[in-house]
Amino acid sequence: MSQNSNKKLDKNMRLMALSAIVLLVLFVYTLYKSSDHIQTDSYYFGIIFLLFLLSFAVFARMKQDKIQKFLNKNKEQNTSFSSELQTAQQNTEDLNSNINAVSSNTTFNDVAGISAVKGELEEIVDFLNEPSKYMKHGVKLPKGVLLVGPPGVGKTLIARAVAGEADVPFFYQSGASFVQIYVGMGAKKVRELFTKAKASAPAIVFIDEIDAIGKKRGGKTNDERESTLNELLTQMDGFDGESGVIVIAATNKIEVLDEALLRAGRFDRRVFINLPNIEDRKKILELYLKGKHFEFDVDKLALETSGFSSAALSTLINEALLNMIKRDAKVLELDDIEVAKKKVEFGKKEAVLLNEEQKEILAIYQASKAYVTKSKVALFDEGVSKLDSVYPSYNELLENIKRYLSGSIGVEVIKNEKYAINSKDLEQAYSLAYSIVEDYKMAKDADSLIEDISNELRSKLSHNATDINRLKNIMLKNEVITADDI
Ligand code: ADP
Repeated sequence: MSQNSNKKLDKNMRLMALSAIVLLVLFVYTLYKSSDHIQTDSYYFGIIFLLFLLSFAVFARMKQDKIQKFLNKNKEQNTSFSSELQTAQQNTEDLNSNINAVSSNTTFNDVAGISAVKGELEEIVDFLNEPSKYMKHGVKLPKGVLLVGPPGVGKTLIARAVAGEADVPFFYQSGASFVQIYVGMGAKKVRELFTKAKASAPAIVFIDEIDAIGKKRGGKTNDERESTLNELLTQMDGFDGESGVIVIAATNKIEVLDEALLRAGRFDRRVFINLPNIEDRKKILELYLKGKHFEFDVDKLALETSGFSSAALSTLINEALLNMIKRDAKVLELDDIEVAKKKVEFGKKEAVLLNEEQKEILAIYQASKAYVTKSKVALFDEGVSKLDSVYPSYNELLENIKRYLSGSIGVEVIKNEKYAINSKDLEQAYSLAYSIVEDYKMAKDADSLIEDISNELRSKLSHNATDINRLKNIMLKNEVITADDI
């Protein structure tokens, strides 16, 4: 670059010298032609001007290096400024190019099991396919659907399937991708996402791991995350159910989400997806084994893979097939599955493979819950079905504490030992007891309230240990206890 500008400078010098000569010639010519009319002042002025030009040229020639350095510096600044400008432009372009819809080929046929979840979302597909059917009755659809469940249970897959079934564009964004370094960039991205989605409506906007932006505000402030969340709330308020944009968001931690997100008019519909139960696992295994030759019992494998997420099951079959290929065989055998199981078990944290004893403990926990609540409970269900009145009575509140405590007390009674299984249920029991004492002033001491209820439960469950064990066996067999079983 410096050589280049060197040449340029030389060229400039030559031009300057040339101009000086031309001027000199012109000057002499003018003097010659009109010497009679020239005033002495102009004569001297001309001479001085020419001398000035000449000395400037000589000076420039002598200081050529310095001038050149100065010019180069300026040039560099300009280029770095323009390259900054270019990067900024590129960032904006990146932003634009990151937000693109894809057309989804996934359908509900690709989603095995979780039929209740599919059922909940079928209505949305129907609305997108035939909006007039709903609109003529003035029915609006929820703007947002929140899918809640552990990783790998098919939240993304089902959202894609909704888009595929309705044949509408699918805008995928992960919550983390909104969290930018620069304040305002996340909000800008949210705006762009919604502008694009509205322009191609009907459309599905899917925000994976929404907790990355939707965490409760307060405490440590994070301007960027807050402005992004505020923008999301504004955008969601800014369109109605008729616009044809449906936002599906996924999280595995609904409890950390900001209440504003869960308020009416935003994510009104919530769909909970648990780890697949035995029937679901069988269907998922069958889906991934379709068209493959295998020599093992799928029912047995479904039974042995409790705790596996749907994603882990798909990986399991894939790994097993890899092993079969490695063996140069054409039939998938139990040994391939065993090899794959080890890989999935050690390689992936999300696959909690329970051994017989652990499974039994969990089954007793859930069976006790089913017995006390008299409602359906599956092996991997979280939370407790509780009484939900607007103005709960003191006894109703006590009943709810009992339900929260039932699992751990049940295990304590049946196994004659305390186990740390589910701290969330205990937290709920304690927070309800404290609320009875502190908010409603219905009792004096939360700890003794918990103690009394625990004692009552201990005696009730030990008197009915046979029933609990019967339910436990049903749970171990079916991974679910229905109301009829109780
Ligand atoms: P999540 O979003 O809940 O973390 P994904 O939807 O990303 O889970 O699932 C990951 C992969 O697991 C999917 O791409 C698919 O291969 C498989 N999978 C998950 N759920 C199912 C299901 N119900 N039926 C078939 N495959 C599934």
